[in-house]
Amino acid sequence: MTPYFTELFGNPSSIHAVGQQARYALDEARDRVARVLNCRAREVVFTGGGTESDNAAIVGVATALQETGNHIITTSVEHHAVLHTCQHLESQGYDVTYLPVDSDGIVQPDAVSRAITDRTTLVSVMYANNEIGVVNPIPEIAPGGQAAGLFHTDAVQAAGYLDLDVRKLGVDLLSLSGHKFHGPKGTGVLFIRRGAPFLPFLLGGGQERERRSGTENIPGIVGLSVALETANSQREESSRHCAALRDRIVDQVLARVRGSRLNGHPTQRLPNNANFSFPGVEGEPILLGLDMAGVAASSGSACSSGSLEPSHVLLALGQSAEVARGSLRLTLGKDNTDEQVDYLLDVLVDLVERLRQLPSLTTAGS
Ligand code: PLP
Repeated sequence: MTPYFTELFGNPSSIHAVGQQARYALDEARDRVARVLNCRAREVVFTGGGTESDNAAIVGVATALQETGNHIITTSVEHHAVLHTCQHLESQGYDVTYLPVDSDGIVQPDAVSRAITDRTTLVSVMYANNEIGVVNPIPEIAPGGQAAGLFHTDAVQAAGYLDLDVRKLGVDLLSLSGHKFHGPKGTGVLFIRRGAPFLPFLLGGGQERERRSGTENIPGIVGLSVALETANSQREESSRHCAALRDRIVDQVLARVRGSRLNGHPTQRLPNNANFSFPGVEGEPILLGLDMAGVAASSGSACSSGSLEPSHVLLALGQSAEVARGSLRLTLGKDNTDEQVDYLLDVLVDLVERLRQLPSLTTAGS
């Protein structure tokens, strides 16, 4: 990225040579992303992150097809970038169905087919859940959605661990976020299948083939594309490495922390995610205790931690608000080690036990 902040500072829309150097970098980055997604370069739109990609996909298709229908199907466990966008469209007169999930957090393919009406234009179902790591069977779900309209998947959490081949997945639109695969924050991708009806909401200079106006963030786009290519090429190795650490965490926590439970499907999940509930203990003091010991963890999603609201994902799995407040999300990366897992386990087991003995920090159910 560094040269594009300094000597290669051109604007890719400029005709002169300095601009054309930036254009070349942009084209190369687009090809790199297209190779990972197995799509055409012109089907790749660079955005300002996962939130923007989700917003653009949903609003872009819903408004492009508003003459055909006003019904959208999504799920109750999506990231707020999808949920809040759908709620906004509801306030504008759209109908939205929020599909339930089973107690393991999986969306059932036939639930999508059953929810379709002759007014349905878009189905949006996430590939992998950001809180509990559960992976949905997108190739099985997508054909049902496409029978009615277009199919979008939020694949933000899947990148670097799961196959992003849009043809195999059978999706019309797919969202990615750069910082989930060691790329820069504030960068994203929206795949839009060629010919898919789409109205842009960023209007102006017509960049990104009229789908996202605004001068392109060349350093960010270059960084995102190389990070995606690297993460994708190391996908199997990272998955194996994280799954081994994750399995040890799950086995040990369930064995050593009494009453603990793993949230989400035991096997149909990302290799780097473990989400637990510890009934009788609030999530917040667990996070603070872990942080003081040098362990960076979260409860619920990072965007909503800091509030004491129970996670909407755990509520959708049928958990009580009390149990949902006591959740802990641990995520791993390719650089985590066995020693770090040993350390985490010792700290966590001791911490939960100590918190259970502090009446002021425990909930009524303890
Ligand atoms: N979708 C999912 C599943 C996410 O996990 C996130 C971020 O955590 C987003 C969307 C939003 O991405 P960004 O933070 O790049 O806007």
